[in-house]
Amino acid sequence: MLYQRSSALFAEAQKVIPGGVNSPVRAFKAVGGNPIFVKEAKGAYLYDEDGNTLIDYIASWGPLILGHAHEPVINAVIEKAKKGTSFGMPTQIETELAQLAVSMVPHIDKIRFVNSGTEACMSAVRLARGYTGRDKIIKFAGCYHGHSDSFLIQAGSGAVTFGAPNSPGVTQGTAKDTLLARYNDLENVSELFQANAGEIAAIILEPVAGNMGCIVPQPGFVEGLRELCDAHGALLIFDEVMTGFRLGRGGAQEALGIRADIACFGKVIGGGLPVGAFGARAEIMAHLAPEGPIYQAGTLSGNPLAMSAGLAMLTELNDNPGVFESLAQKTEHLHKGIAQVLERKGIVNQINRYGSMISVHFCEDPVIDFESSAKGNNDTFKKYFHGMLAQGVYLPPSAFESYFLNDALSYEDLDKTIAAVEKTFA
Ligand code: PMP
Repeated sequence: MLYQRSSALFAEAQKVIPGGVNSPVRAFKAVGGNPIFVKEAKGAYLYDEDGNTLIDYIASWGPLILGHAHEPVINAVIEKAKKGTSFGMPTQIETELAQLAVSMVPHIDKIRFVNSGTEACMSAVRLARGYTGRDKIIKFAGCYHGHSDSFLIQAGSGAVTFGAPNSPGVTQGTAKDTLLARYNDLENVSELFQANAGEIAAIILEPVAGNMGCIVPQPGFVEGLRELCDAHGALLIFDEVMTGFRLGRGGAQEALGIRADIACFGKVIGGGLPVGAFGARAEIMAHLAPEGPIYQAGTLSGNPLAMSAGLAMLTELNDNPGVFESLAQKTEHLHKGIAQVLERKGIVNQINRYGSMISVHFCEDPVIDFESSAKGNNDTFKKYFHGMLAQGVYLPPSAFESYFLNDALSYEDLDKTIAAVEKTFA
């Protein structure tokens, strides 16, 4: 495959956009080489500027769970756009999407729409702090909750790919209120509660993590966090930006059977347009402006195009809940296929999977937290990534990311992908 046009476009982009991209992980820094410029996409396939076709395993990093340019979503946006793109006044469709979202997700009565997952998590933490009157939060190493200051403390995703877990520009004052814990280590969290008695507003976590590869919570871990929060008067915040409307209609709260106090959303809820959201029970949400004193706002929040995409997407998922099982089965098929090939080739690996999230780690020991994820062999990962790309399979360009399967992927696509692994390690 040739990437001449992508390379030329990247060179142009670098002159006017820092690093040539508008979000760091797109830049291929972890795997080397130049990023690929997309021209268009349909279903499970990306069509790049050089005329290559790629089987897509990132689905825009999660949102496009039903595949690219999904017709009901596209049509809804086109129809809406003809009627005006933004008003800064209430519209009925905001209520419609809110009604549908709260009907699908357990334990939330009200939801506020924002424009990104970052905003959702940032606002959820402010709400938790305002509600409890406490300053500190606990976050887990390797979990990514967007790029707001409080979260850039040993964050996953691009923040770790780039080797700058603690970003310059985050003040000491902000950093001191973010307490860091090890994922899947309840004892560690318990110690933090002891050492900071009465000061912790909330724990925020990815209930199934996707920003240090896919990491599944071990039995008892999230249950234990719920108990610790109850015992210490702190709120439990599920960052469901990846897991929401992906692990099932009700996201991780439903899949794990555990109640969160605040849930954050992004990605799927916007159907591929910029939407984030956070929801909680009415009593907590009542503290938010204009009902209560905790301020949060947005010129384009609840934007009609974004709402129409989200509504079309959630309607499809709500009407066809079988899609989650279909996706989980496809992911299992991929998992088994890749595992068999790697075993046959004698390549040390760990594959983590939950629902339609999966990641391949080239390391000996089980990957259960950031430390074990970071032990993956990046040279093997690079070889894997570029070998797959050369055969038309687009994987996340970093070992610290989960794949996101979309339901447009056929079993034929999956088998082609497994065959590509075989050839990569031939
Ligand atoms: N939380 C999680 C779990 C995420 O994966 C991400 C983005 N990948 C975010 C928050 C931030 O969302 P956004 O990029 O839309 O700001």
